[in-house]
Amino acid sequence: MSELDGLKALVTGGASGIGLATARLLAARGARVAVLDLDPSGATEPLLGFKADVSDDASVRSGVAAALEALGGLDILVNNAGIGAAGTVEDNDDDQWHRVLDVNVVGMVRVTRAALPALRASAHACVVNTCSIAATAGLPQRALYSASKGAVLSLTLAMAADHVREGIRVNCVNPGTADTPWVGRLLDAADDPEAERAALNARQPMGRLVSADEVAAAVAYLASPAAASVTGASLAVDGGMQGL
Ligand code: NAD
Repeated sequence: MSELDGLKALVTGGASGIGLATARLLAARGARVAVLDLDPSGATEPLLGFKADVSDDASVRSGVAAALEALGGLDILVNNAGIGAAGTVEDNDDDQWHRVLDVNVVGMVRVTRAALPALRASAHACVVNTCSIAATAGLPQRALYSASKGAVLSLTLAMAADHVREGIRVNCVNPGTADTPWVGRLLDAADDPEAERAALNARQPMGRLVSADEVAAAVAYLASPAAASVTGASLAVDGGMQGL
């Protein structure tokens, strides 16, 4: 018997990187797992892929409805879809601020709103939000992204308080720099991707990036019966970056 046998999970942004690793791990531990993504093609069997844009409420509502119908209910929601932004407050214009906050913060709100009725019907209801070390670390050149993840951290705490008496736990994971296609794309854009990767590894306290599987393991713990008394927590998976 696997620890998540019989449970149903929905992972946004689950067709790549941290979300895909999480969806696969939840499935390997016995859950039936659906993925919502702009491009769900990376979510192959046994994952059930559904196309949705978390920045569009109608798309979220129809995508969540289709996923929950296929799953037959919902116990675990992983709000993971997110996009990045580089720069100081002088580098991003209002449209960029609205876009990133819309995807990274309001996107989680839209999906959660659509999923709450099903979560209320679950005896093992939980939400895990993908936050970031950027929420608390004061990273340079990440003003907009950090603000969006700071909001995710506060949102996690507020949701935990709002829903604890309904039996719904809400936690978040705070990854450091994780080796995902997202980071791969940033490295590929550098003049010398290999040198850039070596420099990035050297900046990490452990001398290497965090893996998507390591973040997924933290999400799976927070979503598991072992974490039944854990709510409002943020679990850093950052290779020691937070301590710097
Ligand atoms: P990724 O780009 O590999 O995967 C992100 C997935 O989200 C993609 O499949 C993409 O299609 C989907 N997505 C993007 N916008 C969407 C939208 N509007 N609607 C639906 N799906 C959408 O990225 P990743 O590195 O795996 O990042 C996943 C999460 O982890 C993000 O929230 C990110 O902020 C967070 N995070 C990443 C790192 C890192 O270093 N990679 C560190 C900390 C936090």
